Amino acid sequence: MSVREEFDEWATSGKDRGMEDRHWHTAKHVLARMPVEPGDRVVDLGTGSGYALRALRERGIGGGYGLDGAPEMVRNAREYTDDEAVGYLVGDFDSLPFLDDSVDHVFSMESFYYAAEPHTTLSEIRRILKPGGTFYCAVNYFAESESTHAWQGEISVDMTLWSRGEYRQAFRDAGLYVAEQDTVPDREIEIPPASAFPTEDWTSREAMVDRYRTWGTLVTVGVAP
Ligand code: SAH
Repeated sequence: MSVREEFDEWATSGKDRGMEDRHWHTAKHVLARMPVEPGDRVVDLGTGSGYALRALRERGIGGGYGLDGAPEMVRNAREYTDDEAVGYLVGDFDSLPFLDDSVDHVFSMESFYYAAEPHTTLSEIRRILKPGGTFYCAVNYFAESESTHAWQGEISVDMTLWSRGEYRQAFRDAGLYVAEQDTVPDREIEIPPASAFPTEDWTSREAMVDRYRTWGTLVTVGVAP
């Protein structure tokens, strides 16, 4: 199944908003760290419901484009947004529809690992970023967070499972400096008492703690020279 088929279905069944609610626990911390200034142009890769750009605009900064490979995601994001400074585009991570040196910051939440050619995507990000521009890449599917690995079995799109070190190396290979790498825990998701396990989604409380509190989301920050 293609990105389009898989995620169009998510968008039409309302999963875009469901992800927004859940990912916001973490995304707000990542967005707060980004050095976005008024007038800066921001691109959100794999924008889903498009919330990241709306959140920046609520702080009076940002503006730019959310890109997504699923037209239904883009349609929803447009519908949820009433802001001339923000637009949503259908496009693929393999070939970003932006000019060289034209973007101040790139953000991507729970999307990068779906790239068919992740090294190409990083080169594309490096290409479109202005000197000193940043890429804030947030992923919860990575090698060290073992309880996330089963996710690949539930989704038809091939996913990239890199370790923290592999993320840093791939950023450097694409010509980005690695300014920071960190994991951001989700402290808001409710973890039931041990007696409630197994649940529909979790075999044990330990696995759920490991996933959300111990590992959380891996954030790698690249800076264009
Ligand atoms: N960032 C949003 C959505 C995450 S879901 C959030 O935090 O909730 C991942 C999104 O990436 C989906 O909307 C999907 O359509 C998009 N996506 C996956 N692979 C893609 C690709 N190769 N090119 C463009 N978009 C892609």
